[in-house]
Amino acid sequence: MAKRSYTKTPMREQAPEIRKHNFSEVALGYSLEEGQLEAARCLQCKNAPCIQNCPVMIDIPGFIKYIEAGDMQAAHEVLRKYTNLPAICGRVCPQEKQCEMTCRLGRSKKFEPVAIGKLERLVADWALQQPLEAVNNPKDKGKVAVIGSGPSGLTAAGDLAKLGYDVTIFEALHAAGGVLTYGIPEFRLPKEIVQKEIESIIAQGVTIETNVVVGKTITMAEIQADFDACYLAVGAGAPNFMGIPGTSLNGVYSSSEYLTRINLMKAYDFPNYDTPVQSSKNVVVIGGGNVAMDAARSAKRLGAENVAVIYRRSKEELPAREEEYHHSIEEGIHYHWLTNPIEYISDSRGKLKAVKCVKMTLGEPDESGRRRPEAICDSDFIVEADTAIEAIGQGSNRILLDTFEQLQLNQWGYIDANTSTGETNIPGVFAGGDIVTGAATVILAMGAGKIAATQIDSYIQNQKLHV
Ligand code: FAD
Ligand code: SF4
Repeated sequence: MAKRSYTKTPMREQAPEIRKHNFSEVALGYSLEEGQLEAARCLQCKNAPCIQNCPVMIDIPGFIKYIEAGDMQAAHEVLRKYTNLPAICGRVCPQEKQCEMTCRLGRSKKFEPVAIGKLERLVADWALQQPLEAVNNPKDKGKVAVIGSGPSGLTAAGDLAKLGYDVTIFEALHAAGGVLTYGIPEFRLPKEIVQKEIESIIAQGVTIETNVVVGKTITMAEIQADFDACYLAVGAGAPNFMGIPGTSLNGVYSSSEYLTRINLMKAYDFPNYDTPVQSSKNVVVIGGGNVAMDAARSAKRLGAENVAVIYRRSKEELPAREEEYHHSIEEGIHYHWLTNPIEYISDSRGKLKAVKCVKMTLGEPDESGRRRPEAICDSDFIVEADTAIEAIGQGSNRILLDTFEQLQLNQWGYIDANTSTGETNIPGVFAGGDIVTGAATVILAMGAGKIAATQIDSYIQNQKLHV
């Protein structure tokens, strides 16, 4: 048997000097041979810890075993039992904090964990190249409405269709996919991949109605009257703002607006798409999560000369994935650590020309367990900027919530649902994903969708027994 390699099989990438000028995907995927090489590193553990640490409990050794044998169809059969969106998860899931973190190979200190996400992507991409077959799922078990077409809604809808339900997704935007479509940039998650995985869910018999804002276009009362149950998966898409002087200046964006213009409205493909964003020379991005990385790297690709991330803590506390940070450094993004903006400064025409910042120091831990950033007196300094993008988190979008008064919310304004069942205070109304947990991850949103699908099934079947 070949000696097991200590390190993961590397995935080819576009070189930084080239990719920082284009929106094509950075990571280029494994060839079958590279995948087999990596799959051969898996120990095929009994009671595999990687499975326990996957929110949708994919049989990871099961699908990896088939890759090693070169049987992609069989590997795909295993994967599809657990996930409707493997090509997406293989690209954007934080595997290093989930399955790969507990991989027994990686725990031996000498070895890196198996590259589970990259292998998932290999199988999923293979599957997307096969002809799409419409599945004739029956639709006789009942009617379910899903509000929101992000990963949570799509997962619930796909699972419910497989269980025999007539499922309609209502989506406010003109394109389905939620953050996968309007938030995560093309260079990390190509929209063609998102579209194909959505098509595979439609092929299960799911109907998607776009441009329907529930709470405006139709009401929850109408939905409750027409359907046996519904799943609220409307995400946490309302941006938080710093609220500092100058926020309304021309050139100050929320990351939601900036990324939506680029991803959904294809601003990077002007003039093919007639929705440009203003061109910038000096861009600052405020925040330290994946969203901040996405905004900074997008600004670079749109041609900004200088892009800097302003983060109020130090590099050790940066919440972004290590891989995203590393990519951003390679692409020439600068960092102002322990820094906080306190004012946007205008030119004579109401346009942003600079950001006034203060230096910070880390004090005692706060309620999140991280050391609290505190401003240092008289430490102001100016960063020149014609564009500032705030990426400091999102909250619940109120459009549906404000028109559905019976629905119980928690103290943070998210839906107060039982996370083990998806049940809300209203019988037949389930909820999950970011609108329950607050901004989280794709795989957690999918996990909530899976739970909701089984619970909705039990709820509807129980209702029928008691009619
Ligand atoms: P969403 O994806 O937000 O979808 C909700 C959908 O509901 C939207 O399409 C919205 O238009 C629709 N909607 C809202 N209100 C209504 C209404 N009234 N009527 C009809 N439709 C409505 N997670 C990762 O795991 N890895 C990453 O790399 C990563 N990167 C990210 C980058 C960015 C820029 C952002 C913003 C998030 C990122 N996340 C990442 C987080 C992840 O995308 C979210 O946790 C996930 O998308 C939540 O899924 P969801 O289905 O709950 O909601
Ligand atoms: Fe393979 Fe690692 Fe899972 Fe063990 S823990 S089965 S080595 S991926």
